[in-house]
Amino acid sequence: MLREADPEIAALIQAEERRQASKLRMIASENDVSQAVLEATGSVLTNKYSEGYPGKRYYEGQQVVDQVEQLAIDRAKALFGVEHANVQPLSGAPANLAVYLAFLQPGDTVMGMALPMGGHLTHGWSVSATGKWFNAVQYEVRKDTGVVDLDEVRALALAERPKVIFCGGTAIPRTIDFPAFAEIANEIGALLVADIAHIAGLVAGGAHPSPVGHAPVITTTTHKTLRGPRGAMILTDAEHAKAIDRAVFPGLQGGPHDHTTAAIAVALHEASQPEFREYAHMIVRNAQTLAGALLERGFDLVSGGTDNHLILVDLTSKLIGGKPAARALDRAGIELNYNAVPFDTRKPFDPSGIRLGTAGVTTRGLTPEQMPLIAGWIDRAIAEHDDEQALDRIAAEVGELLAAL
Ligand SMILES: *Cc1c(COP(=O)(O)O)cnc(C)c1O
Repeated sequence: MLREADPEIAALIQAEERRQASKLRMIASENDVSQAVLEATGSVLTNKYSEGYPGKRYYEGQQVVDQVEQLAIDRAKALFGVEHANVQPLSGAPANLAVYLAFLQPGDTVMGMALPMGGHLTHGWSVSATGKWFNAVQYEVRKDTGVVDLDEVRALALAERPKVIFCGGTAIPRTIDFPAFAEIANEIGALLVADIAHIAGLVAGGAHPSPVGHAPVITTTTHKTLRGPRGAMILTDAEHAKAIDRAVFPGLQGGPHDHTTAAIAVALHEASQPEFREYAHMIVRNAQTLAGALLERGFDLVSGGTDNHLILVDLTSKLIGGKPAARALDRAGIELNYNAVPFDTRKPFDPSGIRLGTAGVTTRGLTPEQMPLIAGWIDRAIAEHDDEQALDRIAAEVGELLAAL
């Protein structure tokens, strides 16, 4: 038992468990996995090496692991309605790197959404390997709407002729128009890749349109709205399957994390249940109700609201930076992250916004009824950010709500 073998780490894990339980966890990329997912993650499958794919391994003893991985693959294919699934990428960033390795040569042109506009590092941002080793061109959102303008994306695509176009991102509060992106990609003969890391659970639950049939290659993490273990998947049509499999292994990775694969299979099973559809829709209802309550309190939301699980708040009019606001909210029991907003005039390490999401609190059982309460606490914590006692009083109220669930 961990408690005897390593009391220090055991105590820290317990402390983290208490910390998570006592707070409103609203980091948009996080969630609370089920006991079943946790159990699979902590299983003896962590002992196994299984380089290769089911039926084609480089080590012996795959009688069980092959079945585990095949189940994960079959469940991913069934849930998302795709022809092929690779469940081995170690996380979202390596999954995207596999796309580059599969379909691009160094120096080739790739197009993605700029990081400060809501894109991801791996969509060609300058500090990422994808921005250093490839010719990355980046689209933005419109300044007046906070939303991607597909006419601008098309003009950039026609001018730059990227081989691969990424859609999706980390701070996009609005529905991604997969058919429109597909039309642009088709027009220039580019490969459209939909990175649905944030919204995979919403897609699985029918609360966001699916990219299937529009993007031949789809990358996703498994640990955000999909509510699985840390990991990733690449979903493709039959045509792109082989290139992706070769890129993941042996192109980029060694042995897959079989304990994670098992936990992904468990999460996919959970996500295929009718209750998960309700969960996905409740995430969106909660986010929209919270957005409405924040707007009522005079908060300025990028794009004016949300269609999904995510809210991006521009705090400029509240005369506070994102960082001190996030810190005050954490003390007040509301955990989220400071975030750049489009056309941010402040530095990336001290930006103007905060980002929050409702996947975690919806898993905890919160409903639209409680969202105005949260908006009220956020408002108070930001107004009283210098007053530690005031913040502690809010944290106590948050704790009471969570304890009563
Ligand atoms: C989270 C995320 C990733 C990266 O996932 P990691 O598991 O953190 O490597 C990639 N793309 C998008 C759009 C993301 O939101």
